[in-house]
This record gives sequence, C-alpha cells and structure tokens, in this order.
Amino acid sequence: KKKAKIASKAATKAINTAGVLGAGIMGGGIAYQSAVKGVPAVMKDIRQDALDLGMSEAMKILNKGMQIGKVSVEKMAKTLSAIKPTLNNDDVKPVDIVVEAVVENPKVKDAVLCEVEGLLADDAILTSNTSTISIDLLAKNLKRPEQFCGMHFFNPVHKMPLVEVIRGEKTSDETVAAVVAYASAIGKSPIVVRDCPGFFVNRVLFPYFRGFSQLLQEGADFRQVDKAMEKFGWPMGPSYLLDVVGIDTAVHCVGVMADGFPERMSALANDPVELLYKQDKYGQKNGAGFFAYS
Ligand code: NAD
Repeated sequence: KKKAKIASKAATKAINTAGVLGAGIMGGGIAYQSAVKGVPAVMKDIRQDALDLGMSEAMKILNKGMQIGKVSVEKMAKTLSAIKPTLNNDDVKPVDIVVEAVVENPKVKDAVLCEVEGLLADDAILTSNTSTISIDLLAKNLKRPEQFCGMHFFNPVHKMPLVEVIRGEKTSDETVAAVVAYASAIGKSPIVVRDCPGFFVNRVLFPYFRGFSQLLQEGADFRQVDKAMEKFGWPMGPSYLLDVVGIDTAVHCVGVMADGFPERMSALANDPVELLYKQDKYGQKNGAGFFAYS
C-alpha cells in the first residue's frame, strides 16, 4: 500500500529539477537539454575535466545558436546557470529525477545507481541512459525498482528527437508516465519500449548495419553505399553513421545483439566494421573510421 502511494505521488509530482550522473558525451548533452528547456540540472561526475568539458560543450551549442540569432545573451546566461556541475553526490539529493549516464559497465552502473538511490527522496525517479544493459538487471539491487526505468537518449542529444523510455518488469505505470512527461517537457519525442537487447532503435539499426557489412564483403564501395542512401533520402549513409556512433560502440552493440538474438544476428566472420575496430579506427571520436577527420 505504501509503495502504491509513493508511486502515485510520482505520477502527479512535476519534474522541476534533474540530476545527471556523468558529464561525458551523453551526460553533458542531457544536462544541457534539460537546462535549455527550463528544467535545471545538477551534473555530477568524478572528474573535474569531464565537468569542464560538459560545460564547454553546452557553451559551444549556445554560441552557435547566438551566431545564427536563435539564442539571446539572456538565454545563454540562463541556460548555463541552470546547469550545476559538481563532484559531490550530495548535490543530487533534492532532484526529482536522475538520469544516470556513466560508463557502459554494469558493475559501475550498479554501484552508482544504488548509491544515488539511497540519497534521493522516496518519490524521486531513477533512470539509466544505458544503450545495451538490461534494465531488469540494473533494477536487481535497487530498493525501489518500480521507480526505475531506462531513458535512452541518442547522440548528439540536442539534435536527436527520440528518447526510448524502457520499461522494466517492475517499472510502475506512474514512473513511465512521469518519465514520458519529462522527456516531452525537455523537447524530446518519447516512445515506450520493453526491456530487450537493442531496445527498439538498435534492433532496427543493427540488422541494417549487418546488411551494409555484407554488401562490403560482396565488393561494394562504402562511399557509393553512403551516396545511394543519401539519394534515397536518408540524412547520411551507414559508413558515416557508424563513424558518428563510434566503431567501438558499434562492435560492442553487435556482440550484445548477437548474444540476444543468436539465430538472427550471429556475428559475421571478417566483418569490415570489426576490422576497422581492430585497427583502432573508432570513427569521429579518434579521427579515423571509414572516413578521416581532422
Ligand atoms: P563518456 O565516456 O563520454 O562519459 C562517461 C562519463 O561518466 C565520464 O565523464 C566519466 O568520468 C563519468 N563517470 C564514470 N564513473 C562515474 C561515477 N561513478 N559517477 C559519475 N560519473 C562517472 O560516455 P558516454 O558516451 O557519454 O556514455 C554514457 C552512457 O550513455 C553509457 O551508458 C552509454 O552506453 C550511453 N549512451 C551512449 C551513446 C553515445 O553515442 N555515446 C548514445 C546513447 C547512450
């Protein structure tokens, strides 16, 4: 009864403040997105340089907006002051929702989620931006799994509209409703999906990447494939998209999908994407992938 009461509180409780754990590519982007849409965000990391980078990335986006006349000086100041970078977990205590965006390691995530859950108010909502780890697995050691779900943003956060709200076995309807409302309030288009390897987007995307790898094995030129997909009307082709996603991230996801759907998604022998990975070509993040970046 007590749990039901707390859960229904979450449904009516407005999300006025957010906490983001991790100030990396995703955490920094999520904190910015929340702040720019009027929900102040505490951005917590364990490294000062990560916090500094998170703030400078936010500044870069705002500067670009100013250059094209879309962001005023006041808006810039207001947004930046709505992001509170911190090394201290205690600063996350009063927030209504937490989005965990630390490294993709189940043990690290488990420890971070359990620690922060113990600090939050009873009716606060906890979410994870994991790309590949099962939400039910992450919920296992939590005291309030009904107030936990996945909240999967895409990179770059300020440009990509979709957010997957991943419902675990124990996630309550009230939690899903509150997370959907928060995602919409910060300008995103949420979809509710169930907890399975690849969630929704990667289940669609990785068979496509697999088809692309097979074309390359049959002798196709990756540049021509990209051009053809652009002519088809997609904003970018698979090679460029893989460089944006990160070749290392993609290889990790291929493994997760192969484990999750062994009959449909078994790993390809001599996958060209894996060959790039073995040459330490991770895409845009380290300057070389299918294409070279300076
Ligand atoms: P990243 O390496 O850029 O950032 C991770 C940050 O977490 C680092 O700044 C690190 O210092 C910090 N961190 C590590 N331990 C911490 C702790 N205990 N407390 C607070 N901060 C801690 O990684 P990223 O690409 O931003 O990915 C973060 C999460 O988002 C991962 O789960 C990843 O799978 C997911 N994700 C990534 C992408 C993407 O394209 N990069 C897209 C969607 C989801």
